[in-house]
Amino acid sequence: MKVVLALDLGTTGNRVIAFSKSGEVIAKSYYEFPQIYPRPGWVEHDPFDILNTTIEALKDVLSSVGADNVVSIGITNQRETVVLWDKRTGKPVYNAIVWQCRRTREICDRLSSHSTLIKTKTGLPLDPYFSATKIQWIIENVSGIKSRIDKGDILFGTVDSWILWNLTGGRVHATEPSNASRTLCYNIHTLTFDDELLDLFGIPRGLLPEVRESGEHFGNTDKTITGREIPVTAILGDQQAALFAQGGWERGVVKNTYGTGLFLMTSTGTKIAESGNLINTIAWQVGGEANYAVEGSVFIGGSCIQWLREGLQIIKSSADSEKLAESLESNEGVYFVPALVGLGAPYWDPSARGMIIGITRGTRREHFARAALEAIAYQTRDVIEEMEGTAGIKFKNLRVDGGAAENDFLMQFQADILNTTIERPHLIETTAFGAAGLSGIISGFWDRNKFSEARKIERIFTPNWKDDKRSLHYSRWKNAVSRSMNWAGE
Ligand code: ADP
Repeated sequence: MKVVLALDLGTTGNRVIAFSKSGEVIAKSYYEFPQIYPRPGWVEHDPFDILNTTIEALKDVLSSVGADNVVSIGITNQRETVVLWDKRTGKPVYNAIVWQCRRTREICDRLSSHSTLIKTKTGLPLDPYFSATKIQWIIENVSGIKSRIDKGDILFGTVDSWILWNLTGGRVHATEPSNASRTLCYNIHTLTFDDELLDLFGIPRGLLPEVRESGEHFGNTDKTITGREIPVTAILGDQQAALFAQGGWERGVVKNTYGTGLFLMTSTGTKIAESGNLINTIAWQVGGEANYAVEGSVFIGGSCIQWLREGLQIIKSSADSEKLAESLESNEGVYFVPALVGLGAPYWDPSARGMIIGITRGTRREHFARAALEAIAYQTRDVIEEMEGTAGIKFKNLRVDGGAAENDFLMQFQADILNTTIERPHLIETTAFGAAGLSGIISGFWDRNKFSEARKIERIFTPNWKDDKRSLHYSRWKNAVSRSMNWAGE
């Protein structure tokens, strides 16, 4: 049976999945790799761990489906993480600095007078989260690297480029706009790395990968690795891949990934929308045309359920939260603002802290579970309101994925609080499916319609609430949020 492979290169591990034409998972393999925390707030990966686990998983899947049956490969990856390596030896000059790493806060402070320029050109706020200051940190801190850069020996890549370069036997050094647009030095208007920004961050142009389309023939894998040469025909950042898998090229469709955090994204077509407290990014570039998106990230999503489980120890498994929440008729006035690490989109208040309000003598763990799940849904509405208000999105429906999207109570509550239908797909591996989808469309395995048909909906949740109930609940949530803000910092 013919298949398309997705290499899903995540933050905690790498997964390879083979998909059939009907969208079924034919084979898969996953390997975790170590997280390296050299100091508080610093996060690194060993680039060889990323590479070796990818190759292991790839070999597992190839031996199960047969290399001859693989039509093409799509790559999707953790975004913003940077690797610099020596192109003669293939050896990294330093560990990969991971998107979560906060070590470049001081560099960002130093450059803060340029933040408007940066936002205008890249669509992003100046923050350690993105790649540029991490590249700058490596250039400033690895001894002897400057002369090697001058000699032209050093290459930079996000994880997609690092893996592509290795899988093609060092022949292809490339990336594409959904990854490049997260580097903080890529101009999303001109679709090129921007000289003024490169100067600002002190990044020599010679380090940079070529920016190709998200869907095109990047090159073939080396047959010493995969047994035969296999074309790599798509690369997409993880959130963009999930959007693609959810049919997110349709306007008004918002996808939300309910994982540790919440990642909402919606396409704005060929137009760059006003983004306000959200981020502008590139969803993908195919057929000469860049497709833009607006993205909102909430720091604490499913992880507030994890906190009930591991921190408070009032539930045994995350799934228990569903039964507890459903055992109450309503939240009985209890609201939980999970600002456990401050608030992200759309509030951006690092000094906000978590708060539970409305507790009475009758409050039980059921109320905590319910308030936490409701908070995930309210935070989702906060981002969608910003998308509608500032970015002018005509919101149609929400398509969901991620671990906590399995929670039926949460999904029903989400439909009620948004007053919209929610589609939950059969397949939870949407990130991998998106990369396979674009790869398969480019390699002729699917046409776009056939790929859409392969996306199967498991369940649709429809709203049941009256408008006044909805506004009452939401206004009380907003009130709670305002009370949680501006707290820490003394
Ligand atoms: P990530 O990819 O960010 O690691 P996942 O998509 O695996 O996250 O989702 C895991 C998160 O979702 C955890 O924080 C977990 O507590 C939460 N979660 C998982 N299952 C459920 C559930 N049934 N109800 C509520 N939360 C859940």
